[in-house]
Amino acid sequence: MKLVLAAPISGWVVPLDDVPDAAFAGRMVGDGAAIDPTDSVLRAPCDGVVTAIAAAGHAVTLRAESGAEILLHVGIDTVGLQGQGFTRRVEQGAGVRRGDPLLELDLDRLARGAKSLVTPVVVLDAARFPVTLPGKDRLIRAGEPFLEVGGAPRLRDEESATPAEPDAATDVIVHLPHGFHARPAAQIARLSRQFTARVVLSAHGREASAGSTVALMALGVGAGERVELRAFGADAEAAVRTLADGIASGFGEPQAHRKVPASAACGRDRDASPRAAPPAGSARGTVASRGLAIGVAWQLAEQEFAFPEAGGGVAIERTRLDDARGYARERLRQLAATAGDDTGDVLSAQGAFLDDPELLEVADRAIRDGKSAAHAWHSAIRGARELLEGTGDSRLAERAADLRDVEAQVLQALAGEAGAVPDPLPEAAIVLAGELLPSQLARLDLSQVAGFCTAAGGPTSHVALLAASLGIPAVVGAGTAVLEVTSGTPVLLDADTGRLLVDPDEEALSRARGRIKARRARRAQLAERAREDGCTADGRRIRVFANLASVADAGQAIEAGAEGCGLLRTEFLFQDRTAAPPVDEQAAVFQAIADALAPRPLVIRLLDAGGDKALPYLPLPAEANPLLGLRGLRALFRFPELLRDQLAAILQVESAAECRILLPMITEAGEVGRVRALLDELGGRGRPVAVGAMIETPAAAALARSIARTADFLSIGTNDLAQYTLAMDRAHPELAGAFDFFHPAVLHQVAAVCEAAAAAGRDVSVCGALASEPAAAPVLIGLGVQTLSAVPAMIPELKDRIRSLSFAACRDLARDALAQEDAGALRRLVDGFAAPVAKP
Ligand code: PEP
Ligand code: MG
Repeated sequence: MKLVLAAPISGWVVPLDDVPDAAFAGRMVGDGAAIDPTDSVLRAPCDGVVTAIAAAGHAVTLRAESGAEILLHVGIDTVGLQGQGFTRRVEQGAGVRRGDPLLELDLDRLARGAKSLVTPVVVLDAARFPVTLPGKDRLIRAGEPFLEVGGAPRLRDEESATPAEPDAATDVIVHLPHGFHARPAAQIARLSRQFTARVVLSAHGREASAGSTVALMALGVGAGERVELRAFGADAEAAVRTLADGIASGFGEPQAHRKVPASAACGRDRDASPRAAPPAGSARGTVASRGLAIGVAWQLAEQEFAFPEAGGGVAIERTRLDDARGYARERLRQLAATAGDDTGDVLSAQGAFLDDPELLEVADRAIRDGKSAAHAWHSAIRGARELLEGTGDSRLAERAADLRDVEAQVLQALAGEAGAVPDPLPEAAIVLAGELLPSQLARLDLSQVAGFCTAAGGPTSHVALLAASLGIPAVVGAGTAVLEVTSGTPVLLDADTGRLLVDPDEEALSRARGRIKARRARRAQLAERAREDGCTADGRRIRVFANLASVADAGQAIEAGAEGCGLLRTEFLFQDRTAAPPVDEQAAVFQAIADALAPRPLVIRLLDAGGDKALPYLPLPAEANPLLGLRGLRALFRFPELLRDQLAAILQVESAAECRILLPMITEAGEVGRVRALLDELGGRGRPVAVGAMIETPAAAALARSIARTADFLSIGTNDLAQYTLAMDRAHPELAGAFDFFHPAVLHQVAAVCEAAAAAGRDVSVCGALASEPAAAPVLIGLGVQTLSAVPAMIPELKDRIRSLSFAACRDLARDALAQEDAGALRRLVDGFAAPVAKP
């Protein structure tokens, strides 16, 4: 059905090609036309809902009843007016009728401050809703028919050779905690380039080419949302499967589960309280990384780049842009290599923007229109940023900082400037900035940084996440008052409440010192004893191991006091590969982890792929119920060469300490026997390797006695055990409220497994997330668990909790725990457990 959009304002009709902005002219934002206004009221072009109003008030997005999203963008470069000249007549979320006023414009003010008043009106998802402009170069009055918007899906112009029916299609739920942000978007784009098929992803009524990082981010896909994939071309099947698997696997990011112990979530927090007007001498923002810091303000100057608009010829400007992108790519690579793991990952993901086909297309179009390389790149990035900001999704707006960073790298190269070396930081610097970009962070001497406070940005911006992973207190979005603070001024950053206090008085300082001291003392106290063996107050030995997924994790785990590794998740070691890693390569990685841990033991779990953890190099068939399909050991039996290679690699590890094998998704003892037979075939008989069974299916829990007789040790995977016991997908967004690992139904199975292990004289550990919860420790210990394998960050706290327990009291608690009827009652019981300490 056709929708006719009325002119939202009177003026001269301008085709999109003639809009003086490469992003709009290049159809990067969407398709439509523009009006050069002669009127001062912007009106709704159709009935609909206001889905977004830009913070600067210069752009409004409406969703029509057909689902088409229409962006009305007043003028070009008007975002810089920061709201001056615009008066809102509606609020976000309001329903409007055609002709209702949306914005009032002070045309005089706008004409003085804006590059142009030409107002693009574009349909964001023009692939689905094709747009026709019936007449151009004419005067139009507000309310007169302006654009026709189709309702039948069609493909973009440049894709019109592609048939409307895809050759393969599927859909997938996204479990990435932050949805399609830069890192996974870049991974999808990279994976898609291996195929000749063109892949289109759709969500929220928008579409994106799988090859474009920016377009994927602009889909605005969040955790728990569904994305549709359609592929056109010869290898469409493989392309769809690989991308869907990659997305479902979460590319190694932690999946969006709910019950993660609060302190394992790395101190990130969000202050949801309404933002009160800050008292003089203070600014208030959002907590990005908890903590408290006293230091001196240090302003990080923003880099400005001046460049000419006109270019020196198409060939010259193209070459300049290519060279500058190459320079920027190398620079990001160098920064990534020297930065810490997390910052390095972000910088590598940013590198993908440099090759984003849509950005390059828009930039090249501008160069063909006679613009300089710098102007073309600047326009392309600005269009992409507006695209992200125009979605009205604050998480996506935060991603615009990554684009700005990539813009700065290229402009810097074009200007021939070396990366500005920041002034040396004073000791205990509280770094203040408008917005801190990841590449700026990588250049700072972090040993001098006590905290970060930025005027803009949100809690999921990359810098916020990086600060949290570095353990540096950070507050973001604290407003421009932050930029007024002179470098060298004493400041107090309270990243527990989100406040920056400028020139704090002695009373505030002494309170803060007291809090810092108490915190340090607690951390130091935990750290001091973290390397001691885990043991209850009455002498029951409990080993506290770490769950690892990389070589880097091993070092961190030892620092935290891990007594070994109880679960190496091997599926995360080579997850970016499209071909299975050769035996020697696997052996080298296992060896590096064993060496880092030595003389502590290492438990290597065989690939637990399939289900919600797809691996690009594991060609699993599409399944109706992947969680009940080829997963863990079942998948390995289906691809015996992968199983043999992994076992052969483990057999090569030379370790002073024990290196054991753990089998995922066991259902019966025979499976353990099959792996043992294979090990014997591979020559493992000479060097006996302990083989353990994961108990993570109700079947394995029920048959724990016979499994315990066959296996050398048992390890309970409470994540999957809860998932299969409760018949709830552990990552299902709507079941998150009901899903709890700490459920009596799970505990009854843990109790049965502990009894079976004891009867067979086997060690039993827990390696699911429940092992990382200090509150659950007394119950697990009381049931007979001897080893807890936890996330490294939780180990000091966990050991402290164990030291405070008496085994006898734990046994009583465990008995009471088994009598509870639901997870709520169980949690109330453990919360009220006072842990009477028995004197040793
Ligand atoms: C588990 O299921 O508890 C477990 C530790 O395995 P994973 O979380 O890797 O599936
Ligand atoms: Mg599991």
